[in-house]
Amino acid sequence: MRVTDIWKVSQKPTVSFELFPARSAKAAESLEKTIDELAALKPDFVSVTFGAGGSTREGSYQLVKKLKNEKGLEVVAYFTGCGLGPEDITAVLDDYRDLGVETILVARGDPPRDQPDFQPHPQCFAHASDLLSFIQPRYNFCLGAAGYPEGHIECESREKDIEYLKLKAENGAEYAITNYCYDNQYFFDFMKRCRAIGIDVPILPGVMPIFSVKMMETLTNLTGATITDTVRQEIAALPAGDKEALLNYGIEFAVSQCKELLSAGVPGVHIYTMDRRSSAKGIVNRLRSDGVL
Ligand SMILES: Cc1cc2nc3c(=O)[nH]c(=O)nc-3n(C[C@H](O)[C@H](O)[C@H](O)COP(=O)(O)OP(=O)(O)OC[C@H]3O[C@@H](n4cnc5c(N)ncnc54)[C@H](O)[C@@H]3O)c2cc1C
Repeated sequence: MRVTDIWKVSQKPTVSFELFPARSAKAAESLEKTIDELAALKPDFVSVTFGAGGSTREGSYQLVKKLKNEKGLEVVAYFTGCGLGPEDITAVLDDYRDLGVETILVARGDPPRDQPDFQPHPQCFAHASDLLSFIQPRYNFCLGAAGYPEGHIECESREKDIEYLKLKAENGAEYAITNYCYDNQYFFDFMKRCRAIGIDVPILPGVMPIFSVKMMETLTNLTGATITDTVRQEIAALPAGDKEALLNYGIEFAVSQCKELLSAGVPGVHIYTMDRRSSAKGIVNRLRSDGVL
């Protein structure tokens, strides 16, 4: 199904989970459990990331195939074109099309951090908007793009960044999924500015549960999302080193964030699982038992 059609027919806001291919045998074992437990929550769809420079090409394909064919889930496949030439792009997308994938999220991606000698293909595309222009006339996918409530980490300005999101919509993106933030005000301001410049596609907020301070700091360095003073103070007030207390705090924080987003009328909530199950399950179960999902 095309994700935009899910939003058209769904009576309720959607719930969806992001997964990525496992990087080790141990991670694969854990991912299996995560998939089964999250599938039991009957999400409207799941998404699968695609490593920069095609680094997870086979792993992403196999995960999409498993989720779709073995687990019967609707899958949004992410695709990042960073460093790839036109033939690599069509080879990946042909495989997804042949698998019956109908929705793709097109992101630029970043050069792989662990490959300092990474050589991009000479005909690679500079931006997601260019990738969308290339992909849109060649395929019948429902295409989407990435959005950034606080602006992309490299952006010249938040205004410019939103202009580029508009270009992505003009070049074929029918929906957007956003990076997470820890203060919904960033998302609400972003939405207002998107609508003001004429971006009228559905915009699905990403929500990142907090479960580890180290992980929170690492991701923030990568994405530029602000760790608010409230979050810092509330975490500092938890018993030091108590992992369960932090996990529960992360669930509570995400639940209240989701409730505020849902009451503002977002099409759904997209949970960045980091391939873990506890937070995502805790959040969805609470939102459902409180009757907001
Ligand atoms: C929902 C979501 C899913 C993601 N999935 C993945 C994934 O699966 N794998 C992965 O590796 N990464 C993923 N990312 C991360 C993403 O690849 C990075 O954030 C990347 O640095 C930017 O991708 P983009 O598509 O936003 O790029 P772009 O839209 O190309 O933007 C990149 C930068 O260039 C600027 N810009 C954009 N268009 C133009 C233009 N036409 N001219 C000049 N400047 C421009 C923007 O302001 C921005 O600063 C995801 C991000 C999100 C929010």
